[in-house]
Amino acid sequence: MQRCCCLKFKVKVMTIIYLKKHKEESLRRFHPWVFSGAIGHVKGQPEEGDVVAVRSAEGETLGTGHWQEGSIAVRILEFGVESLQENFWQERIKAAYRMRRDLGLINADNNTYRLVHGEGDFLPGLIVDVYGNTAVVQAHSAGMHRSRTEIAKAITETVEEVENVYYKSESTLPFRKNFADIEDGYLIAADGEKAMHADHWAKENGLEFKIDWLRGQKTGFFVDQRENRRLVERYSAGRKVLNMFCYTGGFSVYALRGGAERVCSVDSSEKAVELVRQNVERNYPCCARHEAVCADAFDYLGKVQREGRESYDLIILDPPAFAKHRGAIRNALQGYKRLNAKAFEMIEKGGILFTFSCSQAVDKEMFRLAVFSAAAMSGRKVRILHQLTQPQDHPVNIYHPEGEYLKGLVLYVE
Ligand code: SAH
Repeated sequence: MQRCCCLKFKVKVMTIIYLKKHKEESLRRFHPWVFSGAIGHVKGQPEEGDVVAVRSAEGETLGTGHWQEGSIAVRILEFGVESLQENFWQERIKAAYRMRRDLGLINADNNTYRLVHGEGDFLPGLIVDVYGNTAVVQAHSAGMHRSRTEIAKAITETVEEVENVYYKSESTLPFRKNFADIEDGYLIAADGEKAMHADHWAKENGLEFKIDWLRGQKTGFFVDQRENRRLVERYSAGRKVLNMFCYTGGFSVYALRGGAERVCSVDSSEKAVELVRQNVERNYPCCARHEAVCADAFDYLGKVQREGRESYDLIILDPPAFAKHRGAIRNALQGYKRLNAKAFEMIEKGGILFTFSCSQAVDKEMFRLAVFSAAAMSGRKVRILHQLTQPQDHPVNIYHPEGEYLKGLVLYVE
């Protein structure tokens, strides 16, 4: 009798996750997360990052996704099927690229953009930012970590301009202990040694920024404020601008282009302040209108108020996420209230306040309420001019409202 090849080679059979009764509703509505509490039983022994199939309690096929230990057990990659097509990564990345290109986002003046925004591009757990000829990939799930080589290949095959792919996930993967191979570094480096050591400059709306993905925060730059920076530029003419939490100084450089009388950039990180200085120098050499200060935001605002030497009539508050999870919401709201109250107290009459929150756990209404309370405390007359959010290259999947994280208000203060 002939031996079956299955006996010779151990073929891994796809794990099937069966949900509890009535727990399939959110998947039917294309929400891409399966919470561990919704799982009835598991047929198979999945490993972190495996591709698994998900079925209802009755056995109906719901989708295929990445398995992970923890509260979000499966991140769905494809609904209604139990396998992924062979060119899955190419197709998804091509679709993401095509959308950005069709929207006119990639052009001679702008080669800085987010190519993949997780669930917003139907790739939960994956972030890819592009800076000129380099893409920076950040995995937030085990499945994306394990797929990083295929992802890098698909990016360089799809996006003509991209030649280098840098992987930066040491700080974003929450389960390092399960993988010995989580290390930041180049997955593809056509520029070789040069890519490792050179300074990298990319263009955003015609302005140049140094992007340091090796040592910088996140993927090296905050791509999500591109459109909001333009608005700051629009209102900056003749104004005295204070850019709090400036990081690489994006808002500051736009304010200078917009004709600000002077701009002060403040950040508590020495490295950030050094980057702002370099970015201003690159776009506006020997600029006497700009000053960069390394200080804690609250200390700086308090000092300005006490000493009364400086005055500002356009203030930007773009702090880091005060609430990293739902449990921190209360404290975060207090933080936003305290910070905004300081700005309301000191901004000149007729001043414009740009205030942001990038905490996903704090929604639009909560944030607005915190800013409202701060305004009321100051007793100033305040009107809303704009309500801002993230740009088109950070799309929100309509079935996954959690993807909307950036909130901003532009206020006219009398
Ligand atoms: N506005 C920036 C992004 C801000 S990210 C941009 O457009 O790119 C948040 C920044 O706040 C980081 O650079 C961080 O170093 C800084 N930061 C964090 N805590 C701070 C504090 N207490 N005071 C001042 N800066 C702070």
